Amino acid sequence: MTLATTPTLIPKPTPTPTPQSAAAKANLAGMSLARLREYFEARGEKPFRAAQVLKWIHQRGVTDIQAMTDISKSLRDKLAADAVIVLPTIVEDFESEDGSHKWIIEVASGSRVEMVYIPESGRGTLCVSSQAGCTLDCSFCATGKQGFNSNLTVAEIIGQLWWANKKLGGFDGVLERPVSNVVMMGMGEPLLNFEPVMEALSLMMEDSAYGLSKRKVTISTSGVVPAIDKLKDFTDASIAVSLHAPNDALRSEIVPINKKYPIAMLLNSVKGYMASLNDKRVPVIEYTLIAGVNDHRQHARELAVLLADFPCKINIIPFNPFSLSDYKRPSSTSITNFRQILQQAGYTVTVRTTRADDIGAACGQLVGDVADQTKRSSRHLARRDVIASSAGAPR
Ligand code: SAH
Ligand code: SF4
Repeated sequence: MTLATTPTLIPKPTPTPTPQSAAAKANLAGMSLARLREYFEARGEKPFRAAQVLKWIHQRGVTDIQAMTDISKSLRDKLAADAVIVLPTIVEDFESEDGSHKWIIEVASGSRVEMVYIPESGRGTLCVSSQAGCTLDCSFCATGKQGFNSNLTVAEIIGQLWWANKKLGGFDGVLERPVSNVVMMGMGEPLLNFEPVMEALSLMMEDSAYGLSKRKVTISTSGVVPAIDKLKDFTDASIAVSLHAPNDALRSEIVPINKKYPIAMLLNSVKGYMASLNDKRVPVIEYTLIAGVNDHRQHARELAVLLADFPCKINIIPFNPFSLSDYKRPSSTSITNFRQILQQAGYTVTVRTTRADDIGAACGQLVGDVADQTKRSSRHLARRDVIASSAGAPR
């Protein structure tokens, strides 16, 4: 099913924990273990309090400081006077026919961003957003077409994992670890919101919080090279690289950031990060396959040569259509041909199955509601209107 069909959208409003007075108070929900330790130390308290508070918030889903019963009443009172626990608000909740969920959260800037949960046998993957919109404007991406409004805070990023656990019964033991994998593949470019994303990643992998394996937390990037170069000093999460083209001429057309950081520079930077990990992990190369644009056999052959010295897995994502794009998804024959050429060249290749497109939650369909500060979305809409009117005009 594609977005062209009528989706079954059943919004379900959800009550959320709302702070009484959040102004100027520290938000404990947005602090990593290291930050929280500093917080307690700065107030003359024992740093081990940090792990206790993390467990309450991120393992038991508690947002009321007074409910943290292994902390003395006097310290709880001090904390309550000085801090809050604020998570983003869930404003809509959609469930797909295939069991996936899309939740829309409202963030402090007023924008709405989306997260998607995809259950599979033996694992549950949460696709997390890092920004309201995106500045990078890749030609095939619905988020990019929305323009950009704001970076998400740590609490707004980790709050997506918190909410997924809450909704799926992860805090009350209904389901044990409903989210086993996180991919930073929702709205936005995670490496352009660097510090908050790094803090949120550390909470995802922290034993006193969500305790996810570094193999199961993946940053997806379109190639912000300076950020990849410094990544090793902040995290050891896995990485996926949105390549989408086998040469600079084509990549610069569809992924504009390539003009600044071309392919050779990007692959070199990723190699550096992989070398810092000291294990056998390899990056995933993401390749959104668009009919007539980057799906020729010659593109596959060129890609095989390009990546010959670059250990990786390749993930083909057949283009998911959306209303502002004229691109088409390739036929299943061209997807198979593309995959086979790469497999014959010795690569491990997967083709991402389209999930949750009945609720507009497949890769690249995430749009939320972004008050665009870049005016890009209105330019795209105006251009589409011109194309539509000239197509309909008498000749
Ligand atoms: N900004 C990051 C992460 C978010 S996009 C990045 O670009 O990697 C996550 C993935 O979805 C990327 O690989 C992106 O190329 C892919 N994607 C975007 N639009 C798509 C579409 N319409 N169809 C299929 N995949 C898409
Ligand atoms: Fe931004 Fe990624 Fe979309 Fe490109 S594909 S516009 S980097 S969210």
